Amino acid sequence: MHRSAVVNPEPYNATIVDWRDCSDTLAVFTIAPDGGAVEPFDAGQYATIGLPKEHPPVANPDEFPPGDPRWQRLWRRAITMASSAERRDRLEFYAVRVDDGKMTPKLWHAWKRGPRRIWLDEHVRGEFTLVDVPHGRDLVMAGTTTGIAPYLSMYRTYRDTGRWRRFVLIEQCTRPDELGYRAELERYAAEDDTLIYLPTLTGDDDAVGSTWTGRRGGAASLFEPGALAEATGVDIDVSPDTCDVFLCGDPAMINPAEKPLLEREYVIRDHKTPGQLHVERYW
Ligand SMILES: Cc1cc2nc3c(=O)[nH]c(=O)nc-3n(C[C@H](O)[C@H](O)[C@H](O)COP(=O)(O)OP(=O)(O)OC[C@H]3O[C@@H](n4cnc5c(N)ncnc54)[C@H](O)[C@@H]3O)c2cc1C
Repeated sequence: MHRSAVVNPEPYNATIVDWRDCSDTLAVFTIAPDGGAVEPFDAGQYATIGLPKEHPPVANPDEFPPGDPRWQRLWRRAITMASSAERRDRLEFYAVRVDDGKMTPKLWHAWKRGPRRIWLDEHVRGEFTLVDVPHGRDLVMAGTTTGIAPYLSMYRTYRDTGRWRRFVLIEQCTRPDELGYRAELERYAAEDDTLIYLPTLTGDDDAVGSTWTGRRGGAASLFEPGALAEATGVDIDVSPDTCDVFLCGDPAMINPAEKPLLEREYVIRDHKTPGQLHVERYW
């Protein structure tokens, strides 16, 4: 029996329709739901995707026929929309392949070797959004690698609407080739005075390379008093009175970034407490 004939379509309800490798382990990809569109979402929210635990198919497909319940057992993982919330029929995501991870090696396999089918939860979730941020404030958004996905969605959704005073996007990676949206963000920043894009690299000299002239070092130190204004050359006061701060991705960046902000009387927002410090840990 031909292998594609035994792939049970039951767990799948969406198709991976586009893929861009940014580095060996980072990719931007697009999913189209079979139903045409996901439910309305706010920029910054996340979806859940899944691939069968037994994917890729077993060596002998006859041992694993259509309808076998093993196809139904999925590794499910949260993943944040990077695309505009106005586009619900094609969702763009930014993902890293964790080599010893459960789901993401299967995701790469699904695109490269097929089938390019995936499970997508019909519900979107998350409170890491601009929903209760007053209009016209400064926004400082720091993310590690794929942790910039929610900011891309926010920017793409609200640019040119006056939603913020300034939108400072700090992207922390190890090496230049991990700045997967650099060209696009530099183009936006050249067109839009409200966007300040600050990539910063943490790798050693070999990883960073000799052509990098941008900032070196982690994002967390930018939240020490005065550091962001010095690094960007922009007169920005990181104060809870005028500025909301968003931190997303790796806890090793988020935890030390929180400390100087809490000392300046930032309050961490949660579903019960209003606050100006918004945090999304990916693990
Ligand atoms: C709310 C939320 C939103 C998320 N959005 C995204 C997203 O937009 N893009 C994305 O790539 N991941 C995102 N994640 C992480 C994602 O859910 C998975 O953890 C990741 O895809 C790895 O899955 P896995 O099964 O391959 O690894 P697992 O077997 O689950 O291994 C988990 C380990 O992988 C590492 N890891 C997980 N995520 C990352 C990451 N992004 N970068 C580097 N190392 C990581 C950590 O060491 C973690 O302990 C999000 C997580 C949460 C909670």
